[in-house]
Amino acid sequence: MQKHDKGRLIVISGPSGTGKGTVISRLMELRDDLCLSVSVTTRPPRPGEIDGKDYFFLTREEFSERVEAGGLLEHADFVGNCYGTPKDFVERKIDEGVSVILEIDVQGAAQVAKACADAVSVFILPPSGTELERRLRGRHTDSEEKIRSRLLEAKRECAEAAKYGYIVVNDSAEAAAREIDAIITAEKCKSAYRINLVTEVLIS
Ligand code: ADP
Ligand code: 5GP
Repeated sequence: MQKHDKGRLIVISGPSGTGKGTVISRLMELRDDLCLSVSVTTRPPRPGEIDGKDYFFLTREEFSERVEAGGLLEHADFVGNCYGTPKDFVERKIDEGVSVILEIDVQGAAQVAKACADAVSVFILPPSGTELERRLRGRHTDSEEKIRSRLLEAKRECAEAAKYGYIVVNDSAEAAAREIDAIITAEKCKSAYRINLVTEVLIS
């Protein structure tokens, strides 16, 4: 990492089941300058999910208290549950020069885009609607009713993809992770973030 590199906010959205979690895990192996924001949610844990690692699982009352105290950078309702991004963690990491990945829905992404003009946004698309349904069912974590809601929501979400800075198709998770890696590298090379390097060269 160059000493002038700033931490960046990287927003990643895409339909539930498209493979965001899978691609992000691979991305984290490719880079050592990233961390993942752990969201708060009122959704019950899925088998194998760990409190504090996958999500901070809260009651609705606890979630409302966080919102009222101004502790969330953004928050949204998704298929009957509330989700939000703790603000303190994100601000601390950005200050330390570490980029933070937010895996959030399209409503939350719109709030972040308003609040942080320089956030980088990536929409992950499945290769097809049929493959999305296959992945959602293959996960064996949701009831038939939840799968139907998530598929309906997927169509609404995909309609928002044009609002994102980048679109990545998750056909191969490895290839998708490499594309996001390249996006982050290019974003960090933008002249706006490196202009002070020019001054240093000129005076040395
Ligand atoms: P999301 O985080 O978007 O809800 P997950 O990462 O949980 O999605 O992936 C949903 C399912 O799809 C999982 O069973 C995962 O193993 C599978 N999956 C993810 N990416 C791919 C891919 N590129 N090819 C095939 N299956 C995939
Ligand atoms: P899941 O229940 O499958 O873990 O997540 C459902 C949806 O909520 C996904 O689209 C995921 O990106 C989104 N999500 C997870 N955490 C947050 C968050 O902190 N804020 C918002 N707005 N959405 C989130």
